[in-house]
Amino acid sequence: MLLLSGPNIAGNEWKYVKECLDTGWVSSVGSYVTKFEEVLAEYTGCKYAVATSSGTTALHIALLLAGVKQGDYIIVPNVTFIASINAIKYTGADPILIDVDPATWQMDLSLLEEFLANETVMENDILCYKKNKRPIRCIMPVHVLGNICDLEKLTSLAGKYKLKVIEDATESLGSYYKNKHTGGFGMMGCFSFNGNKIITTGGGGMIVTNDEELAKKAKHLTTQAKSDSFEYVHDEIGYNYRLVNVLAAMGVAQMELLPSFIKRKKEIDHFYRDQLKGIGDIRFQEIQPDIDCNMWLFTFMSDKQKELLKVLNDKKMQSRPFWVPMNRLNMFANDIYYSDKDLSGFIYQRCLSIPCSTNITDDELASVAETIKSVF
Ligand SMILES: *Cc1c(COP(=O)(O)O)cnc(C)c1O
Repeated sequence: MLLLSGPNIAGNEWKYVKECLDTGWVSSVGSYVTKFEEVLAEYTGCKYAVATSSGTTALHIALLLAGVKQGDYIIVPNVTFIASINAIKYTGADPILIDVDPATWQMDLSLLEEFLANETVMENDILCYKKNKRPIRCIMPVHVLGNICDLEKLTSLAGKYKLKVIEDATESLGSYYKNKHTGGFGMMGCFSFNGNKIITTGGGGMIVTNDEELAKKAKHLTTQAKSDSFEYVHDEIGYNYRLVNVLAAMGVAQMELLPSFIKRKKEIDHFYRDQLKGIGDIRFQEIQPDIDCNMWLFTFMSDKQKELLKVLNDKKMQSRPFWVPMNRLNMFANDIYYSDKDLSGFIYQRCLSIPCSTNITDDELASVAETIKSVF
């Protein structure tokens, strides 16, 4: 089976993990946790990084630290992986799902602007949804597939409407907007190191921020909010969300490989775009010139999506449809969905992701491309 985007364990993973096992430093206290945080902070250009058990738990903590409470709203794109919305729901808040741009597949900022102008009102300096006066606390851009929306416009709208920005940067390690890495454009940014992400710790996540106080609080909340170094005194309801040393060791090794992974992901992207350009109705994700995208997961659009998925998977070339848009899932069917033409649905019915693991060979890439061409 040719994996869609599998892990590539090619560096010092064994060595560093063995060191944890040999020394007994396996749990959430250990030098690799600190080291992984330092490396991530440096790489993303953020002052602080706090390692968590997953991208989902990172998002949950970031929202709590943004002051999100029961009954609040969070603005988020309708095209994302479910974890973004689950994290919102854990806090008791609800999403406001904004439809996406059909070319970039990121939140449609014109639609967002229209929503803010028409559907919201300021009450005591807090932005509220006009119909029920519930507070809209944050906006959470999701850098879908490592691509990025016009963050300058998004942050300026957030400023104008007093919305806190929490980036779901989980897919965008190695992606830059105007030469600045994702994660540091708002209050906090969150990354994921799940099995199919650009680097992996098996499972893991990271909160990055430039605010020391927030970083301290994030560490506190993810470690059961223990407030005394000796006695079991806890000053609020905390979470057991810390990344463990064994996995952080893997993360440190993976970060050493990240530049080579990004290089390979970009090669794969170039190869597929070059081979598939002009074939049938195939269209690609548009990436604006001021964005340097990590090209994490190669995805394209065609009306023959269903047929392509069948042919590829039959040939053991693991391919997947795009996520079901959030408004189409039962649990979120009653949430607000702001859309003009339901472009999320349009994209969903046409997009598919194809094998693009960093350790895929050139021959394998060529046979995937040939298989796709044979359908047209
Ligand atoms: C992977 C991902 C997450 C969650 O990360 P986990 O580490 O799997 O919890 C959140 N949002 C998006 C958009 C993702 O792709």
